Amino acid sequence: MKYTGPIYRPPYEAGSLLLQVTVGCAHNKCAFCTMYRGTQFSTESIEQVEKDLQEARKLHKSVKRVFLVNGDAFVLSASRLKPIAEKIIKYFPEVEVITMYAHINNIKSKTNEELKELAKLRINDLWVGVETGHKEALEYLNKGFNLEEAKEQLKRLGDAEIRFIYGMMYGAAGIGNGTENALANAELINATKPMGLAPTTLNPNPGTKLWDDVNSGKFKLATEGEIFEEMITLFENVDVEGLKYLGRHAINTIPFDAILPRDKKKAIEIINKTVERVGEDYLKSIPKRHTI
Ligand code: SF4
Repeated sequence: MKYTGPIYRPPYEAGSLLLQVTVGCAHNKCAFCTMYRGTQFSTESIEQVEKDLQEARKLHKSVKRVFLVNGDAFVLSASRLKPIAEKIIKYFPEVEVITMYAHINNIKSKTNEELKELAKLRINDLWVGVETGHKEALEYLNKGFNLEEAKEQLKRLGDAEIRFIYGMMYGAAGIGNGTENALANAELINATKPMGLAPTTLNPNPGTKLWDDVNSGKFKLATEGEIFEEMITLFENVDVEGLKYLGRHAINTIPFDAILPRDKKKAIEIINKTVERVGEDYLKSIPKRHTI
């Protein structure tokens, strides 16, 4: 298999076949992200993709799930994604889901008809990094789309019967805004009905605008206590039947999974027990987190 540049996938795709179709991230401008900072965006040729599939077929008896690498692989036009999906199905007829990271603007650039055609080719379960439903925070994070666009495009995915996982970050709105951030996320989640919710936690990485702003005092990070309150507010206000809470990212202080609303009470209990256990000093602190 040929892999170029840094390769990232959600922790939950550890069992998926990773097939590279793009290198880097076409957006590459988010205020907090260093994942592909030094990587020039490019696309992989269909010939190389086919070679990788032939190699993978020899290696794996059965592949039910394929994750298309890299940072925003859904940036490929429908006319490029369709032959890729067709080749995956040719070599792995048993495949159930072809998934990848998707940026809101990648959805916007496709027609409703194209989205439906991609769904028929088993493209589904897209990982969409929305990060926050908080209007000002979204603008600050420089995601390249606004709140209205996020809402409209996520709804278009639903109309095309493409499931998605809403990626978000606790603490995205900074200190003093945790409750607002939770309520704004809950509102967007409830309006767009994702299949899953995958939280990480905002963390300043050297080389980013966020890092500079934290060091100059322009952006103040939320304390751990506030992050826990934000989590509770989110659980109290999210209302989507069967929503999978996929919280086991290494960057999160309290990593766990849940199905909502079934596990709402249990999830809030887990957070409250942590609050009781860690003590005041820790709640007031801003812990150093794993980088992404
Ligand atoms: S967060 Fe995602 S969209 Fe933003 S720069 Fe990083 S990889 Fe690209």
